[in-house]
Amino acid sequence: MNAIRPRLLILGTGFASFSLVKAIDVDSYEVIIVSPRNHFLFTPLLPSTTVGTIEFRSIIEPIRTARRNIRFHQARCVRLDLENNIAHCEGFFRNTPFQLEYDLLVIGVGMVSNTFGVPGVDQHAFFMKELADARAIRQRIIECFERASKPKRDLDEVRMLLHFVVVGGGPTGVEFAAEMHDFARQDLSRWFPDLMPYVKITLLEARNDILSAFDVKLSKYALRHFRRGGVHVRTGCQVAEVQENAVVLNTGENTPCGLVVWSTGIAANDLVRSIDVPKGPLQRLVTDRDFLVVGTRNVYAIGDCSILADQDLPATAQVAQQQGKHLAKHLNRKARRMPTKPFRYRHMGMLAYIGEYRALADLKNVKGRGFTAWLFWRSAYVTKLISMRNKILVAQNWLTTFIFGRDISRF
Ligand SMILES: Cc1cc2nc3c(=O)[nH]c(=O)nc-3n(C[C@H](O)[C@H](O)[C@H](O)COP(=O)(O)OP(=O)(O)OC[C@H]3O[C@@H](n4cnc5c(N)ncnc54)[C@H](O)[C@@H]3O)c2cc1C
Repeated sequence: MNAIRPRLLILGTGFASFSLVKAIDVDSYEVIIVSPRNHFLFTPLLPSTTVGTIEFRSIIEPIRTARRNIRFHQARCVRLDLENNIAHCEGFFRNTPFQLEYDLLVIGVGMVSNTFGVPGVDQHAFFMKELADARAIRQRIIECFERASKPKRDLDEVRMLLHFVVVGGGPTGVEFAAEMHDFARQDLSRWFPDLMPYVKITLLEARNDILSAFDVKLSKYALRHFRRGGVHVRTGCQVAEVQENAVVLNTGENTPCGLVVWSTGIAANDLVRSIDVPKGPLQRLVTDRDFLVVGTRNVYAIGDCSILADQDLPATAQVAQQQGKHLAKHLNRKARRMPTKPFRYRHMGMLAYIGEYRALADLKNVKGRGFTAWLFWRSAYVTKLISMRNKILVAQNWLTTFIFGRDISRF
């Protein structure tokens, strides 16, 4: 192995960084990874874990087992000294500070949930970004049912506990509402039959439609499907405050509920905000087509936290993954002094699960919906899962859920 390999410091273990790590030439670079998460998370299936359709460990892949000859530190980068090529970090467990020097830096730290400054969101709403969020949601759902089934219950309290509110009608909010609806209909109805008349799922969206990035016909189909299935969709509806057991709309209407899932978009995290370079919309780091951050010589940015100077791509897993792969190829070729080509994005289409074995498939030449699209959705995601272990576990979880139903234990 070459002893004078340049030190390549990669921040993050998400879609962008993980695909870079998988493809980078470790003989050409000394690869050091820093992330508060020691695993990759397949977020498209995260909503399914909130109700137990899929188990948590089935959609993660440890970074250490994904690639040999890398160094990993479970830590958070808190500040970058771009002048001196130093990353200031804090250990994940005890916040112990340490510094790492680099020759090349890749920032793939993603974004955080955007609260839009709405009061009470941080304190009372549940986000859906990490496995810990999904686990907290799952515990809260079961808690609401267990509390609602206590003897001599007050019916207003039962209605409050069993009202599940989702804020945000994008794919994540829609998929959670769909999974929650399936869970209630297919499993909870068997074990809490007397509570079913009180169960309500509400989806609040500020725009006039849901899934606005999808083809209009598909988005209208999803709306009709939800309304037929009993999910209360309220469009043109803005949340002014989230309280401990209620959502307050900007009309002043107070809606009691047992759970609020907040999924309204993304914002830059503290690290990205602190970097002193020209920024794009949402404070994303502006890059060229090889992901070199504008105004720097040796700093690259990929995934949600970055934006191309000449093209506004959506913040999605497929964009992040293609960018990570491209950067690996670019750096590998650069190390061998071979010519490189600028990044070109290939859009593969969009998929969303809408409940009751139905999905939407908005592909380049095909607009599919219903059961066939659901079969496609499932096969596409099994194919896209990173490892064979994940593929087997997810397929197994789908089968056991189908045969035995979802687990309703709380622990
Ligand atoms: C519930 C959900 C469902 C989704 N479904 C889809 C879908 O179906 N299709 C689709 O295309 N996209 C989907 N997305 C979007 C997709 O997940 C993101 O676009 C994608 O994860 C972005 O990849 P990334 O690598 O930029 O960031 P992320 O995957 O968010 O990874 C960021 C990484 O950086 C780490 N990090 C954060 N801060 C620091 C720091 N200070 N120092 C070091 N490391 C740090 C994090 O721990 C994480 O490992 C979904 C997102 C969610 C939340």
